[in-house]
Amino acid sequence: MTTTAADAFVFFGATGDLAHKKIFPALQAMVRRDGFDLPIVGVARSGWSLEKLRERVRDSLAQHGDGDTESAARVCGLLRYVDGDYNEAGTYERLKQALSDAQRPIHYLAIPPSMFAPVVHGLAGAGCAQGARVIVEKPFGRDLASAQALNRTLHEAFPEPAIFRIDHYLGKEAVLNLLYFRFANSFLEPLWNRDYVASVQITLAEEFGVEGRGAFYEEVGAIRDVVQNHLLQVLALLAMDAPIGPDAQSMNAARLALFRAIRPLDPTSVVRGQFTGYRSERGVAAHSQVETFAALRLQIDTWRWAGVPFYIRTGKCLPLTTSEVRVDLKPPPLALFDHIGPAQANYLRFRLSPEVVISTGARVKRPGAMQGESIELVARHQAQNGKLPYERLLGDAIHGDDTLFTRDDCVEAAWRIVDPVLRDGTPVHPYEPGTWGPAAARHVIADGHWHDPVMEESAPC
Ligand code: NDP
Repeated sequence: MTTTAADAFVFFGATGDLAHKKIFPALQAMVRRDGFDLPIVGVARSGWSLEKLRERVRDSLAQHGDGDTESAARVCGLLRYVDGDYNEAGTYERLKQALSDAQRPIHYLAIPPSMFAPVVHGLAGAGCAQGARVIVEKPFGRDLASAQALNRTLHEAFPEPAIFRIDHYLGKEAVLNLLYFRFANSFLEPLWNRDYVASVQITLAEEFGVEGRGAFYEEVGAIRDVVQNHLLQVLALLAMDAPIGPDAQSMNAARLALFRAIRPLDPTSVVRGQFTGYRSERGVAAHSQVETFAALRLQIDTWRWAGVPFYIRTGKCLPLTTSEVRVDLKPPPLALFDHIGPAQANYLRFRLSPEVVISTGARVKRPGAMQGESIELVARHQAQNGKLPYERLLGDAIHGDDTLFTRDDCVEAAWRIVDPVLRDGTPVHPYEPGTWGPAAARHVIADGHWHDPVMEESAPC
């Protein structure tokens, strides 16, 4: 872990969509909560002035910020702007001047993937990579080969410890809660294996579609967009062995061992879907075969998990926006009381968004006869609060804490899992918006039964 804090924040992509929606609000929160006061040097090619960038930032904070005018003004006060094309050496010369006496800049690349290599080479050529760190926004490649190529490019200018690959999912309070709950308690470990766990389901559902980003989505699809990164990271936190410590090296070693034990997907374990109407979106091909839904079954070849299926399901235009993990425990060996009880009455449920819920399912006796009912014991139920994911992760990167970032070998190991189904041409099954995807998704799961998350009752105050 590099521990010295950066002394300038260089923002490639400062005029873009992600900057507007997420990054300036995160910087505002960092200013307000942590006294962030580094110069923020925006770099883009819009021909803008510094004042125009400030206007854009004010608009971003008015729409997505926390309403605090003082910190908004402070963010605007920290801004600098360098205008120029990322393909031109002069852009980096001007950046070097703008950085003046900064010794340890951190370069944040919120830019199209095609621009990663020119920017990394430009930074190195102008001497701006010396002593610097780089934060890379996903996607880290679009398959195993391109991820390896990207890692090689990054390593030409930055040593691995100076590279921070950001997956904002790993900065979510609920995801950190999952990690904490697993390894801060002793009672889970005896159950957490093939003897007690029947199966695991991870669902990431979005009620909305591609929201005008059809051209972007056409290049990606659900497996590249969220399975290879967010959902495999959640799976790793659920299934990995205990890391030997809380530091980045130990966490990454545990994650890597798990990824390496997951069998690469074969096409019979995957169902892809596409919502009706996707092909009419702007930027989408009339006969697009890109999936907006994916359901898949993974197998982990370890003593802990051999034979336990892990199911992942994600999609756009589903009935609600949520993400949830459900770990089904095996039923008791004999049904002494409830002859027609639900097969999977015992489970653990981790709601990751929009709220945080940790609960467990159990059977209890009803008054009277020896008959039972299913109840849920709730260990934690709260609204998402605390730091914004980007606030946490950008702050960590600035301070050199890489615990919540992915390493080159972990990224490549995750691509190795999904790589075989990225180009295999399995059919895309149509599904109606507002449903849980195509009926064919049933075939992925042994008993055909997906647990569809429901709207949570509101969190207690
Ligand atoms: P946008 O297309 O909105 O923004 C791209 C940015 O890069 C703009 O600031 C643009 O500057 C700049 N840029 C592109 N090419 C050049 C060039 N040749 N020279 C100078 N500047 C250039 O992209 P997003 O903000 O949506 O996404 C950025 C990255 O973040 C992508 O890798 C994306 O996958 C990732 N991401 C995006 C999310 C989102 O919700 N938007 C979510 C998670 C990740 P200019 O405006 O001047 O052209």
